[in-house]
Amino acid sequence: MAPILILECMQEISSFNPVVSDYRGFDCQRGDEMRVQAGLNTAVGGAMDAFSKHLDLPVVPLFSARSGSAGPLNAASWDRLKADILATVEPIKEPIGGIYVSLHGAMAAENEFDPEGALLAALRQSVGWQVPIVISMDLHGILTRKMLSHINGVIAYHTYPHVDFAETGARAADLLMAIMRGDITPVIARVVIPALVRGDQLVTETGCYGDRIRDLQELEKSHQILAGNLLIGNPFTDVPELCSQVVVMADGDADFAGQVAVRVARDFWQQRARMQADLVSVETAIAQAKTTPGPVLFTDAADATSSGASGDSAELLFALLDADYPGRVLAPLVDQPAAQQAHAAGAGATIEVALGGSLDNRFTRRLVTARVALLTQGLANLETSGHKLDAGPSAVLIVGNLTIVVMSQAVSLFDRALFFAHDCNPKAYDLIIVKSPYCEYHMFDQWAALNCNVDAIGATSADVANLGHKTCQRPIYPLDQDFQYTPKPEIYRPPLMQNHQSTGSSPAAPGQSQGNTDE
Ligand SMILES: [Zn+2]
Repeated sequence: MAPILILECMQEISSFNPVVSDYRGFDCQRGDEMRVQAGLNTAVGGAMDAFSKHLDLPVVPLFSARSGSAGPLNAASWDRLKADILATVEPIKEPIGGIYVSLHGAMAAENEFDPEGALLAALRQSVGWQVPIVISMDLHGILTRKMLSHINGVIAYHTYPHVDFAETGARAADLLMAIMRGDITPVIARVVIPALVRGDQLVTETGCYGDRIRDLQELEKSHQILAGNLLIGNPFTDVPELCSQVVVMADGDADFAGQVAVRVARDFWQQRARMQADLVSVETAIAQAKTTPGPVLFTDAADATSSGASGDSAELLFALLDADYPGRVLAPLVDQPAAQQAHAAGAGATIEVALGGSLDNRFTRRLVTARVALLTQGLANLETSGHKLDAGPSAVLIVGNLTIVVMSQAVSLFDRALFFAHDCNPKAYDLIIVKSPYCEYHMFDQWAALNCNVDAIGATSADVANLGHKTCQRPIYPLDQDFQYTPKPEIYRPPLMQNHQSTGSSPAAPGQSQGNTDE
């Protein structure tokens, strides 16, 4: 039996992060190295587990490249990454049963606004339409026309904060196997919604965004559709096709898929104003913190490394110092020069050290006196997926009542892994700066008395209307306010598989193989 190939290319960028990222930021696994993901809560892990239930199905993992969120990828790195991925597929001369590609979907490179689209187009060019390609995506991904024109199916996360990584991979694997068996004739209806959204209503368990996803899940459960995706894009990835969108896959019935997508898009559009962030000024947040008994969270989503910010903002720390906030504060900070200085001085030393703004010059850099409490190599494992974090040489610095975990490089901070790896239990502090828009409820919110979503500056500020988008399609809410919107379905019909044709129509030749798009 022809094998299933597995590829992975995951990165999310903020176009507003001034630091370009490069190939070295990717954690790469080649061939069987990818099998360590089996059993992990990752998309590839979930897909491998689903494939492994079919013992007669050979699975060949080829290449996985995963990066933390960052600034745009430099041109040479993107060229190399794309070449490295394709080089694993092109030499395969034996028949291929299908390809599963795990993507994030919010990449952008200096020389390419749509890396995922370019990759899928090249992959399709290489294998033709007789090989089904199914992708999985983060719901913050930007599914482009080019991507849609070169795939047979797409499955996106259903949860935010994301917890269904493995489940998403398993759903993509099941879809791919159904297509390979010829059990289904997938059609894809996509409705673009010109809106960027943030804020509490996006938490899928409690917010109205979750209600719309549950609408789609009901239709999946009752087998009326094959898959329902509601992608919101990463508002910080300023690329031409940035948008929110509903993407519905049905078995043959394009009209029904289109109707569902239009209905969900209309409901989402009506709630666009609710799905905006409610931000508190720094002054108000500090005043509230001073009078709140019990732990307070300052959510600094503007410097969220997991959304692609540089992580080097000490703005809130300096504001707390200036306001003589008396409680014990815990905060993460990307600051390689400070980490190096701490390592050079040694544990227990007291140093005069500049903190903040080491990468993004919109942030203040200020000299403080700090005690080096702990030195580490910055290694941790994410609480949710177990994936490793590597922040490079790191240090815990004590500045008065502030405890600052200083890293050499940005890592995801959407859980407590980095704090725990530095012997810092957030529960032991009065105020914790969290550089992620949302974390799983039990991690912080469950025991905190107050969570202030602070209106700070940074490359991933939830005040998206004022970030300075230059490239994305306009009009788009909330950058533009007064315009009419009528949801319209685009239909993509991947050609039928050569091996499983039921209608006698021949598959499109490689190179002219775009799925049809009609309105
Ligand atoms: Zn995401």
